[in-house]
Amino acid sequence: MTKKNITFAGIIFEGGTADEYKTGGWRKLRPILDKDKCTNCLICWVMCPDSAVIVEDGKMVGFNLEHCKGCGICAMECPDKVKAITMEEEEK
Ligand code: SF4
Ligand code: SF4
Repeated sequence: MTKKNITFAGIIFEGGTADEYKTGGWRKLRPILDKDKCTNCLICWVMCPDSAVIVEDGKMVGFNLEHCKGCGICAMECPDKVKAITMEEEEK
């Protein structure tokens, strides 16, 4: 931010969001979903710190890789009996 675009009296007109910043560029590991195993419990959606798990019509359908940082929390939190997410090296 430069001095020019500081608002009058530093007033903040809208809430902060990382939505416009594509933060997936430095991901080393990529989450891979096995749809055949997934039970759509949506634990991964709740636990993802980047809101990068995509849910449509109540079902987990994949990942927003523009925002996913590859932390692996979704794979870790997917229930042991299911384990529908694996983390793979980004080069693959
Ligand atoms: S790897 Fe991390 S950032 Fe990416 S979808 Fe899973 S929990 Fe979210
Ligand atoms: S935590 Fe696992 S089983 Fe549950 S919605 Fe996510 S991928 Fe599917």
